[in-house]
Amino acid sequence: MSDLRDLLADTVARVADYRERVSDTPVFPDSTEGVREKLGDLPEKPAPPAEVIRRLADAVEPALVATTGPRYFGFVVGGSLDAATAADMLTTGWDQGAFNQITSPAAAIVEDVAGGWLKDILGLPSGASFGFVTGGQGANTVGLAAARHHVLAQAGWDVERRGLNGAPPLRVVASEERHATIDCSLRFLGLGTDAVEPVRANAQGAIDVADLERVLDGPAIVCLQAGNVNSGAFDDFGAAIRIAHEHGAWVHVDGAFGLWAAASPATRHLTEGIEGADSWAVDGHKWLNVPYDCGYAFCAHPDSHKAAMSVTAAYLTGQGDGGVRAPGDFVPESSRRARGFATWAAIGELGRAGIAEMIERCCALARRFAEQLDACEGVTVVNDVVLNQVLVSFGDETDRVVEAVQRSGECWMGATTWHGQRLMRISVSNWSTTEADVDRGVAAIQAAWASVVDKG
Ligand SMILES: *Cc1c(COP(=O)(O)O)cnc(C)c1O
Repeated sequence: MSDLRDLLADTVARVADYRERVSDTPVFPDSTEGVREKLGDLPEKPAPPAEVIRRLADAVEPALVATTGPRYFGFVVGGSLDAATAADMLTTGWDQGAFNQITSPAAAIVEDVAGGWLKDILGLPSGASFGFVTGGQGANTVGLAAARHHVLAQAGWDVERRGLNGAPPLRVVASEERHATIDCSLRFLGLGTDAVEPVRANAQGAIDVADLERVLDGPAIVCLQAGNVNSGAFDDFGAAIRIAHEHGAWVHVDGAFGLWAAASPATRHLTEGIEGADSWAVDGHKWLNVPYDCGYAFCAHPDSHKAAMSVTAAYLTGQGDGGVRAPGDFVPESSRRARGFATWAAIGELGRAGIAEMIERCCALARRFAEQLDACEGVTVVNDVVLNQVLVSFGDETDRVVEAVQRSGECWMGATTWHGQRLMRISVSNWSTTEADVDRGVAAIQAAWASVVDKG
């Protein structure tokens, strides 16, 4: 066997070993001591690839966080499906530049196919354009860039050519409980965070439609949310989109994880009316369980999407060779990883029915967490568990309980502040989580709670 073949085979074996062990290792590393030392100083001389890889893996593996495993419940973090993981390894091996149909016809075609499938699964308009981006942050930025183009073009201003100096003012209307990446996107786009006119959220964290109506006054970008990152709440899309469009506004939906509710008949009602929006941001690496980094930006106005993103210029609207869309026209990067392969494989592994089943299972497991925790003395679940997110109060001891759970290594969940309360935040987004994993998580939380109460 060649050295390369040995190296790759050993590497794959190492990945397989890691993934097979992952559910038996502490979910968060006990310590990161020694990692820097093992990484060593800047090497002066070349080294054999196998040795380099061995040193890297030896140094880093003890410090990995078991996010691919079944008991990581922090933030909103998906695992990685087997086929998607393997396809991502192929993607690396093939090393295609997914800029257009010349740099990689295969990458362009696979994105085209997978993008069409995603629209179908998520109930988005079949004519929507799409870009495969790094994640929710990237998708929000692309959606809001298309919005910026569109709203200013309607005001007679070409923002791609003239920039924002001297442009008509652009209002951004968004819930006070919008995700932080919306603000970050507005910074990247030169609109600034002061451009946001906040709208009140209701008791569950969904946008207050009456307050939206009060704030709206002419053209603007309205940001709605499918899945509040704390509570999982959904905005009332039917009403909010109708009002926004009456005002000539563009509606962008941040559906990083929540848009996947549309993939299941059991939760689809939460997204009702969402197809009427103008742009949508969704993650692949969260609930679809594609490896990092993977997100999708969809747009109901392909020309505006392209005007905001294409490398060449807004006036080049040809489809390119063979009628295949150029992936690079819909994302901020020019040279980029071929993100379509892993998405195609994830959808291929689960199929439409399997995706629906995964979404339903995660929601059922979130309800299982909620029921068991709510039954504990002194513990309260504070949100309506409509999706995969659970917010739990342990009174004044919440932070100490969260820290104790994290230290246990049994599972990992973070803390948040929501509606003035410190809360444990649980997200069930991993395809491999089972009822037994939830029960083990509940036991770890109960043990942490008991230890904190004991210490008084
Ligand atoms: C996670 C998340 C984002 C950001 O997505 P990344 O993939 O981390 O860039 C945006 N909005 C919501 C609602 C999210 O949950």
